[in-house]
Amino acid sequence: MTDSQRETPPQRYGARATVIGEDTRILRALPHRERRTVGAWCFLDHAGPTQLPQGDGLDIGPHPHIGLQTFTWMIEGTMMHSDSLGNRQLIRPKQVNLMTSGYGISHTEVSPETETKMHAAQLWIALPDDKINMAPAFDHYPELPVIEEQGIQCTVLVGEFLDTLSPVKVHTELLGVDLFAAESTRARLSLDPRFEYGFMALEGLASINGHELTEDNMVILEPGLDRVNIEIHAGSRVLLLGGEPFESPILLWWNFVGRTTEELKMAREQWIAEHERFGSIPAYEGPRLEAPAFPGHMRPS
Ligand code: MN
Repeated sequence: MTDSQRETPPQRYGARATVIGEDTRILRALPHRERRTVGAWCFLDHAGPTQLPQGDGLDIGPHPHIGLQTFTWMIEGTMMHSDSLGNRQLIRPKQVNLMTSGYGISHTEVSPETETKMHAAQLWIALPDDKINMAPAFDHYPELPVIEEQGIQCTVLVGEFLDTLSPVKVHTELLGVDLFAAESTRARLSLDPRFEYGFMALEGLASINGHELTEDNMVILEPGLDRVNIEIHAGSRVLLLGGEPFESPILLWWNFVGRTTEELKMAREQWIAEHERFGSIPAYEGPRLEAPAFPGHMRPS
C-alpha cells in the first residue's frame, strides 16, 4: 500500500506558553485539550533555547509525583536534580534523567548559579496499570546511542530506532528520538505501523510529509504508517515521539497521574500533610510547592 492510501491527514496541535518555577518561560505541547497522549507520553514542556542571566535560572522547589516517569533531555546547559530518595545528579548536555515516581517521590530542579544557558525538554511517561504503584527510582543516563541516517544525527532517547536500542528503562512500547541535521536534508524514515507519532521542532524548521514543523506545534500521525518523509533545515532539531496508543484512560492533575479522582485527591492531601509517601529534600533551601485547589470535575484522557 502507498503512503497516500494509508495516510489520514496529520493533525496539528498548538503548544501553549506558560511559566514554571520562579519565572522560566516554556512551551507546553502535551497534554493538549484535544490530544492528551502520544503512546504513554502524557506531558511535554520545551524550555529554551535561551540565555539566562547568571543566578536567574530554573528553580523548582520540592514537589511530588505519582503514577509517572519524568524524562529530562538536556540539549544545552546544566541542571541539578535532587530527590527524596537522596539522589543528587547534575544533568549535562546530551544526557537523560529518568525519575520513576511510581507510588510516590518528590524532587527539586535547579540551575547551577553559574549557568547561563538552557535548552531542554521535560516529558512525563504514564505508567501502565500494573506499574502505577511501583517503587520509586531514579536513573541517570550519561550517554545515549547516536546514529547517522541520511544526513540526520539520530539520538535514540527511548525505545528502538533503526535497530538501535536506548538503555532508558520504560514500561510500555515507546519511542523518543532527537533528530538533528547540520546541513539541510531530506530523508525517509521507517515507522512502526502499530505506533502513533508526534513530531515537533525543538529548534529551527522542518517538515514531515510536507507538513511544516515548528516549535509552536506538534504534528500527530495516527497508527498505520510504515514510513515518513522528513525534511530538516540546516541547524534544525526535531523531537520524534511514538508509542502504542496508551491502554487505559488516565487522569492527569498537577504533578500526578492516576486512574481515579480519589487517588489524586488522596495524594494531594498527603502532600499537604507532609506524609512520608513523598519523603523530603532537606538540602533544598526554600518552600515546598503548594498543591492547587482540586477541580470540581475531571475529564479522563
Ligand atoms: Mn517534577
